[in-house]
Amino acid sequence: MSKGRHSRDGARVSSYRKEGVEHVLMTPSANVITIMLIQEQELFSSIKDTISMEDKNDDLAKLSLLTEDILLEHLKHRYDKNLIYTYLGDILVAVNPFHETNLYTTQIRDFYRYSTDIQKPPHVYALVDLVYRNVCHGIYKQQCCVISGESGSGKTESTKLFLKQLMYLCGGSSQLEQQILQATPLLESFGNAQTVMNNNSSRFGKYIALKFINGKVIGAQISDYLLEKSRVVIQSPGERNFHIFYYLFDYLPLETKQILCLRTKHDYRYLLTNSSLDVQNATATNSLDEVINAMGLLNFTDKVRILKNNDLSNNGREQHSMFRILSGILTIGNLEFSIDDEGFTQQNFDEEKAKKNLSIIANMFGVNSDLIMECLTTMTTLTRNERVIRKFSLQSSQDARDALSKHLYARLFSWLIGKINETLNNPYSSQSYHHVVEIGLLDIYGFEHFELNSFEQLCINLANEQIQFFFNQHIFRMEMTEYEHEGIIAERLAFTDNQTLLELFMAKPLGILSLLDDESRLPKATDQTFVEKLNYHFGLNKHECYSINRNNKYSFTIHHYAGKVSYCALGFLEKNRDTLSDSVVDMFKNSRDDLIRLLFHGNPSDESIDSNKGLQHRTAAEKDARNRLTVGAQYRNSLQILMDRMCASHPVFMRCLKPNQQKQAYLFDDSFVRAQLRYCGMLETTRIRKEGYSVRLSFEEFIQKYGLLSKARPSNVPSITCRYILEETHLTEWQLGKTKLFLKYYHPEYLEKLMNKYR
Ligand code: ADP
Ligand code: MG
Repeated sequence: MSKGRHSRDGARVSSYRKEGVEHVLMTPSANVITIMLIQEQELFSSIKDTISMEDKNDDLAKLSLLTEDILLEHLKHRYDKNLIYTYLGDILVAVNPFHETNLYTTQIRDFYRYSTDIQKPPHVYALVDLVYRNVCHGIYKQQCCVISGESGSGKTESTKLFLKQLMYLCGGSSQLEQQILQATPLLESFGNAQTVMNNNSSRFGKYIALKFINGKVIGAQISDYLLEKSRVVIQSPGERNFHIFYYLFDYLPLETKQILCLRTKHDYRYLLTNSSLDVQNATATNSLDEVINAMGLLNFTDKVRILKNNDLSNNGREQHSMFRILSGILTIGNLEFSIDDEGFTQQNFDEEKAKKNLSIIANMFGVNSDLIMECLTTMTTLTRNERVIRKFSLQSSQDARDALSKHLYARLFSWLIGKINETLNNPYSSQSYHHVVEIGLLDIYGFEHFELNSFEQLCINLANEQIQFFFNQHIFRMEMTEYEHEGIIAERLAFTDNQTLLELFMAKPLGILSLLDDESRLPKATDQTFVEKLNYHFGLNKHECYSINRNNKYSFTIHHYAGKVSYCALGFLEKNRDTLSDSVVDMFKNSRDDLIRLLFHGNPSDESIDSNKGLQHRTAAEKDARNRLTVGAQYRNSLQILMDRMCASHPVFMRCLKPNQQKQAYLFDDSFVRAQLRYCGMLETTRIRKEGYSVRLSFEEFIQKYGLLSKARPSNVPSITCRYILEETHLTEWQLGKTKLFLKYYHPEYLEKLMNKYR
C-alpha cells in the first residue's frame, strides 16, 4: 500500500512496501516541479559563471579517444578555469584548488538539491545528490563512497563537504544531524596533525556509516583504522604532534592551564622534536572552543572551562579527565632518567624538577608517583615462590615511558570514537527497523612513500592496495557490463590487478603479516631475523612483488601498485606486539581517575556508575578482546571487515588529485599529476579501454566522418551502412554494438590515412 505525505519542500513523499521492505519515493507534484525548475533556472543563472556548463568535456569518458596525455590536458585545462571537478565515467575526479572557492555557496548547494533531469556539471554535491536519491528510492540497501588520493589531495575536505551536504539534503536541522557534523572537528583535533604533505593530515583512517529510514538519517557509526600513535612521542622533521596538544596552549584560559599544570608549549619534549613548533604555516583548522562545543553536543560530560578553584576531584567529568590525561602525557615526556654505576636506570631522583614533574604526572593520572617510577625503571616477574625485580637500562626506561604515552593516547582516541558512536547510534536499534539503508563514506590515509618507511607505512600502503583492488574490480566490471549491454563479444580483458601483492601480505601462513606474527611470538626473534625469513620465503624471485636489499639487513622492498617502497624493519616486532607492561596496566587499572580506569578496563567506582552514566563504555569489553591480538592481526581483520562491507555496497568513487607538492594555488604540475593518474589507477581505466575497444562512435558520427570510404549505397539502417564502410577498409577487430561502433585504438589513424585520398 502506498502512503502519501509531503516533504518540507513540497515534494510528494510516498512509500510502498516490497518484500517486507518499505521504499520511499519522493515524487514532486507537477507544480512543485515547475517551482523547482524555475528555482533551478534562477539559481543556475546566478551561479553559472562559477560552475560553467560551457565546457562540454566535463565527462572525459565520453571522449572518443582517451589517453594519458589527453586526460592530463583536459584536467589541466579545466583546472586553469577553476573547474576542479571532472567526470571520468562515473568516477568523480577532483583537483585540489588549494584556495577558497565559491563552489560551495548556499546557491550551489541548492542547485544540486533534488536533481531534476537536467544534466548538471560535475561536483561533489552532484555525487551526494545521486547517492541520496538512491537512498530515498530505496535503490540500494548499502552504498559506499570511496574517496581516495594521496596525502593532501583533498580527501578529508571532500568527505566533510559530502557529509555536510548529505545532512543538508536530509533536512539539516535535527539534533542527530548536528551531532554527526560535530564529530568531525572533534576527531580532527585528536587524530589530525600537520605533516610535510598536508597541514591538516588525518593520521587515522575512518569509515562513517550513515543509516537512513525514509530519507532521514537515524544513526551513524564511525570505524577508525590504525591511529599513528607514534606521533605522540616523536615527529619527523617539519611535522607536528596532534593538533589537540597545541590547542591546550593556544586557547585555554590561564586559570585552567594552571589547574592542568601546563607550562608553555616550548617546555615539552613531545612538542619540540625536530623543532616542529617552528613549522611554517602552522594553521589551526578548528579552535578549542569548537572542540569543547562539539564534546558538549556529543554528550561528553562536564566542561573544562567551568572548572573552578583547585577542584581536582574529577570523577565522572569526562572532558576534564581528557585534558588531564593530555597534560599528563606531555609531562611524562619530560621525564629524564639517570643511570647508576652499573648502567641501570636510577630510581631515586634528587632533582627538584624531576620530582615536580613526577608529582604532576601522578596527579594528572590519579596514581602514586613512586609506582610510576617503579613501572618505568624496573620489571617485576613472579616465579613460583619469589618476586624477581629486574632493573631497566636507560633505553628500556625511555622506551617504557614512550610506550605508556602512546598507549594512553591511543586508548583515549579509541574511547573518544566509542563515545561518539554511542551518541550517534543511540536513536538507532537494529531490532526495530528492517528497512534501514546505509551510506558509507571512506576516508583513509593515502599511499605513503618516504625516505624512511616503517611499520606504519606498511599498514597504510596495504590499505591502499586493498582499495585499489576494489577499484580495479569495479572498473573492470563496468567495462564488461557495457560490452554486454551493447551485445559485444569480447575476450576477457587482460587485467593486471594487485591480487598477488595482496596475497604477499595477507596469506596464511606464508604472508608478511603472518610471518611477522610468528616472529613476534618467538622470544629470540629480532627485526633482523624477521627480514631473513621474508628474504628466505619471498626473495630471489620467489615472489614477483618482493626484493631483497643486499646492503641493509633490516631493509626489504615491496613492489607496490604505486611504485617500489623500501621498508626498514627496525622496530617492526615491537610495534606489532605493541605490549604494555602488566605493571603499567595494573597501575592504571587502579587509578583514582574514572576515565583512566575505564581506558584500562578497570571498573568505574560505584559512585560514578550512579551519577555519571556517560563514563561507562560498552565497547570496553570488545576492545579488550581485540587488544590481545597483534597490531598486524587486528589491522588485517579490520581491513577484511571493511572490504566485506564495501563489496556488499554499491560503490561510487571520488579520486582526489594534488596539483603540486607545494600546496600552492593555481599551480598544475604536469608530471606530478601524471604520476598520480598513473598509480591511482585512473590510467588503468584508460588502459583497459585501450586493450578493449577504446574508440566508440555513434553510427551516425562514424558515417558522417568516414561515409566517403564506401562506394556502396548507404542503407537506411545506420549500423548496416557502418558495416559496408568498414568492410571496404579491410579493417578487422571492430565490433558493432546496439547503439555504437567499437573500434580499436589504432583504427582511427588508419581511417584518417584512407580519408586523405579524398581530401
Ligand atoms: P587529504 O585528506 O587528502 O590528506 P585534505 O582534505 O586534508 O587532504 O586537504 C588538504 C588541504 O587542501 C586542506 O587543508 C585545504 O587547505 C585544501 N583543500 C582540499 N580540498 C579543498 C577544496 N575543495 N577547496 C579548497 N581547499 C581545499
Ligand atoms: Mg585526510
